[in-house]
Amino acid sequence: MTKDKESKKEQIWMTIFTVIPVVLFMNVGEYFTDDSKMKILYSAVFGGLSGGIGAGLFLLFKNKSSLIKIIALISFISIFAVFIRAIYIYSFPEKEVLIEEEVLITCSVCGYKTLTKDDKLCGECLVELTESEMTEEGYSSMEEFIKEEQIIFFSSDSLVDTVDFYNPKISEYEYEKDLNWTPLVSKDSVLKFNKEYVNFKENYSLDVE
Ligand SMILES: [Zn+2]
Repeated sequence: MTKDKESKKEQIWMTIFTVIPVVLFMNVGEYFTDDSKMKILYSAVFGGLSGGIGAGLFLLFKNKSSLIKIIALISFISIFAVFIRAIYIYSFPEKEVLIEEEVLITCSVCGYKTLTKDDKLCGECLVELTESEMTEEGYSSMEEFIKEEQIIFFSSDSLVDTVDFYNPKISEYEYEKDLNWTPLVSKDSVLKFNKEYVNFKENYSLDVE
């Protein structure tokens, strides 16, 4: 290979080693801040840093084979991405938690994490805890509404002698129970309702026959 060709090839590799990391990492500012000036700062720091390391890496692997060069570049990009992710988690630990927990809010009636900010209809107990539903159902307070719905939800079609407010931990519809949630009704009031309901059902079906 002539000297010219050799240096041209080197130039191409140098470009690959610097431009690819810069292009990949120059937009990370987007994740760190909403402030446009800070975005530019973050992008300059991470873009510049990745380009600089890329250039250094090229000099280090200059005389190695193409395969080794590519492996080195990919390894560097992966490690740098993990490094940025680590900085992000370290800088915004609360953001990470928010992203995971923002999704589902605990339903006051059944205690499962089923609700979102916009969706107030519980997918587990099928109660919609809104003022308008409360009025429509004829309750004068939210507390009364929740209590009545809890008694119905935790009762059973057949006669039972115990109530477990906290099990199953994962519901039939795959919702997770919030262990910090506490019911407003007592086990006794649920059992009382259960007894009355089963009695009523038996009498009613007897009457039908
Ligand atoms: Zn519910």
